[in-house]
Parts: sequence; structure tokens; C-alpha cells
Amino acid sequence: MPTFVRTDKCDGCKGQDKTACMYICPHDLMKLDKDGSETGHAMRAFNQEPEQCWECYSCVKICPQQAIEARHYADIVPLGGSVQPLRGSDSIMWTIKFRNGTMKRFKFPIRTTPEGSIDPYAGKPAADMAKIEEPGFFNQENGYRAGDRSELIKL
Ligand code: SF4
Ligand code: SF4
Repeated sequence: MPTFVRTDKCDGCKGQDKTACMYICPHDLMKLDKDGSETGHAMRAFNQEPEQCWECYSCVKICPQQAIEARHYADIVPLGGSVQPLRGSDSIMWTIKFRNGTMKRFKFPIRTTPEGSIDPYAGKPAADMAKIEEPGFFNQENGYRAGDRSELIKL
């Protein structure tokens, strides 16, 4: 279910050109309404296409104001409940609020490498753009193989 921005908490990332939520969203959904013409809330971000939201929680985790929440499936988290992360440098604290007032907190480590140090393409050859229209052109040359029926789980 999509995210929404709490306008009482969002500070528009203090007017920077690109807000943290705009930077992190893999689907480019977050947008800063600079003059308030789109939402009625100037200098507040909003999810411009909620139906496209993956609910990946990236924006929820990165927001320095904890201003973004995700709407959850009503059968799991009824209205009034919330799930809010608080990101640290090496761990993340999840605060779960239940509708009846119960609150639980869980703390998990989030990475084993220094922040920003991961190079996802390390050791991979550069993609050959001449093959851009061939299906699987990158994977086939880098370890892809056809499935083997004998490896299927047999019930
Ligand atoms: S990251 Fe948070 S504070 Fe910054 S613009 Fe987005 S919702 Fe607002
Ligand atoms: S939950 Fe993920 S896909 Fe949805 S708005 Fe946030 S960063 Fe984008």
C-alpha cells in the first residue's frame, strides 16, 4: 500500500534541490510541492502516483523527519496502527503501534559494510549497448543458464 507524507512533520528537506525522499525512491514517485499549488501544502513532499508505489519503505527509512508512513493492508494493520522506522548508522529501530495503544519496538542491524561503499557492478563487464534489444543480453553472458527440470522441487 502506498506511502503518504505527514505534512505536520515534513520540512521539505529544508528547501534543498532534491529532497531525501526524491533521491531514494526507485520509482521517482516523491515530489516536493514547492509553492503548494499541487497539494495545498507548500514545501511539503507528496507521493505523486500512489498506485505505483512498491511499498519498498526506502523513503520511509530515509526521511530525516520521520514524516513518511505507509498505508498498510487493513487486515494486517487496521486503521490507527502504524509502522515507523528510525534509521541509525548501523541499525534501524522499528516502532510498531497497534490500534489498541500497544507499542512494540524492534532493533535490527542494517548493514555490514560502510554506508555508500557498495559497488553493485564491481567485476562486471560493461553492457554492450549494441545488444540492447536482445532479451537477456546482460545476464546470458554473465552466468545465466537455462533451467534444469531435475532441480525442481518435487512434491
Ligand atoms: S524526506 Fe521527509 S522531510 Fe524530506 S521532503 Fe521527503 S517527506 Fe519531507
Ligand atoms: S515506498 Fe518506495 S516506491 Fe513507494 S514512494 Fe517510497 S521509495 Fe518510492
